[in-house]
Amino acid sequence: MKGKVNSIQTLGTVDGPGVRFVVFMQGCPLRCAYCHNPDTWSFDEGDEYTAKELLDKILRYKTYFGITGGVTVSGGEPLMQARFVSELFRLCKDNGIHTCIDTSGCLWNDDVKELLDVTDLCLLDVKMTNESDYINYIGCGIKPVLSFLKKLSQINKPTWIRHVVVKGVTNTEENINGLAEIIRGHSNIEKVELLPFKKLCLSKYENLGLDFRFKDIPETSNEEIDELKKILQLKLGV
Ligand code: SF4
Repeated sequence: MKGKVNSIQTLGTVDGPGVRFVVFMQGCPLRCAYCHNPDTWSFDEGDEYTAKELLDKILRYKTYFGITGGVTVSGGEPLMQARFVSELFRLCKDNGIHTCIDTSGCLWNDDVKELLDVTDLCLLDVKMTNESDYINYIGCGIKPVLSFLKKLSQINKPTWIRHVVVKGVTNTEENINGLAEIIRGHSNIEKVELLPFKKLCLSKYENLGLDFRFKDIPETSNEEIDELKKILQLKLGV
């Protein structure tokens, strides 16, 4: 089986613990208004790899992973190619490499279930905290995502929650309350990352002739992230 890959980052440090080989899969059914990777959306683009071909590349960097690093498969939406990612992760596990997916959690089927069996850590992007924002800014409802989180919780899968803070959309106290409500009670959640909205991707949109819906919204400062983190910690009592 071959997988369609958009790009590879050999020594990533922001997608999971430690130093990681990050594979960005091609294809995504969603259209997040702040998406950094609109070039991954189309299912017609991308380079084809077998899992073994990717593993051979990964093994060249294994010494950099140390105890905590490993491989992260992001996207696009990795769940769209769950069988391929499972095959890759099985090879990684055979070679003692930590595996992680970065997903929107927007779908569930038997292939996804099998993928989680060989996934050590799930980075789940809880993109919004209510149905109307999901429909308006993401392109799916919130229910599949909440259900995905519930399934992760039931199998006690180590999970990090990621949430992008966008001025006027997700930077409100009400939204942070909503995030706390979603997170509360799931003991598998090890970490919550609030990420600042950035506009580095603007040129990608221009090159693709696409409209970047949030182009007029200012980037989120680290100070604002720190403030919201404090509010979230208070809400969660941690
Ligand atoms: S799920 Fe990820 S790749 Fe897909 S549109 Fe959203 S941010 Fe972009």
